[in-house]
Amino acid sequence: MIRVHQGQCGLCVHFAEHQPQEQQKVMPIRKTQEAPEDLVEECGHPEHRTLHLMVTPMSGCAGFEQAVPPM
Ligand code: SF4
Repeated sequence: MIRVHQGQCGLCVHFAEHQPQEQQKVMPIRKTQEAPEDLVEECGHPEHRTLHLMVTPMSGCAGFEQAVPPM
């Protein structure tokens, strides 16, 4: 597991945003701020979506928007 920080994809609302089947992987990252080293998900940001950009939890871009951590 690796630590993810503010501004990185693992904590962004667009990380696997349009893949409901992946939410069980994304939610623990938001809660613990730790992610598996080998996880790759599609970015759902409107400017990336048509490109099917694949990112890791440690990636990042200027489109970062903080996701609300689960309770
Ligand atoms: S690439 Fe940018 S918009 Fe997409 S998940 Fe990562 S930080 Fe968010």
